[in-house]
Amino acid sequence: MKEGIEKAKILSESLPYIREFYNKTVVIKYGGHAMVDEGLKKSFALDIILMKYIGINPVVVHGGGPQINLFLEKMNIKPSYIQGLRVTDGETMDVVEMVLVGKVNKEIVGLINHCGGKAVGLSGRDGNLIKARKLQIQKSESANSPPELIDLGRVGEVSQVNPEILTTIDTKDFIPVIAPVGVDDEGRSLNINADAVAAAIAGHLQATKLILLTDVEGVLDKEGRLIPSIKSAEVETYIKEGIVAGGMIPKIKCCQAALAAGVAKTHIIDGRTEHAVLLEMFTHRGVGTEIVQ
Ligand code: ADP
Ligand code: MG
Repeated sequence: MKEGIEKAKILSESLPYIREFYNKTVVIKYGGHAMVDEGLKKSFALDIILMKYIGINPVVVHGGGPQINLFLEKMNIKPSYIQGLRVTDGETMDVVEMVLVGKVNKEIVGLINHCGGKAVGLSGRDGNLIKARKLQIQKSESANSPPELIDLGRVGEVSQVNPEILTTIDTKDFIPVIAPVGVDDEGRSLNINADAVAAAIAGHLQATKLILLTDVEGVLDKEGRLIPSIKSAEVETYIKEGIVAGGMIPKIKCCQAALAAGVAKTHIIDGRTEHAVLLEMFTHRGVGTEIVQ
């Protein structure tokens, strides 16, 4: 009986959060360990399904870096990264699209459906959801040399989001699961960082939250301690000082961009924790690092 009352109390405590997020959109970037470990996969799927059934609108965008690398390895193609972004030649792009859209996306959709939800898989090509252009990045500047452009190949950035397909899916209460592949003006695929896709979609849908799952506790300081809260204006300093590096750079910049586009709150959380999404959504303290205006 006592245990029952405890459970009822926990449920009751989540009421203010359910009320706050009712009818609102939450974009979640799913990736890393949470996408590999069987227990974590299931707990993620259940979190998303629960959100949907209590009237919140989850939109899932997934990564798939390790899964892509596994296939590249099988094909004897060596992955390489510059500033946390994958260098993608034509051959690599074929593998990226096959793995992300054909395998990873369908696995996530299958998992959510198997756990009792209603999910539909999309890539940026479907309904022209994600229009993209080739990403131009500059070599980290040195004092007096002119900035040099780096060619990352078939790597894109979002140029336009056409959310019509998402609206259509939403009318029938399906959960969209999106692979981070965009289409350029010539109709060719571009590989886009999944954090960036999640941020662009969150901005377009005016989501109330953007949640990025990763394999670390959140943003860590020089001593490796979790930074619970970062202001958008502080992001550049963290990067300049080298506290934030590698794959955390696009992640934190995406949060900043999403905030600028009108998303209320963004979070980088530890996907290695069971029910990380529910903990973030429905507990007072939240988990990981929040990046706020
Ligand atoms: P994901 O697959 O979730 O996108 P990434 O590897 O792209 O993960 O980015 C997260 C990585 O960024 C961490 O595993 C860590 O190695 C690196 N990183 C760099 N600076 C930081 C920092 N200050 N706090 C946490 N992680 C950081
Ligand atoms: Mg990454």
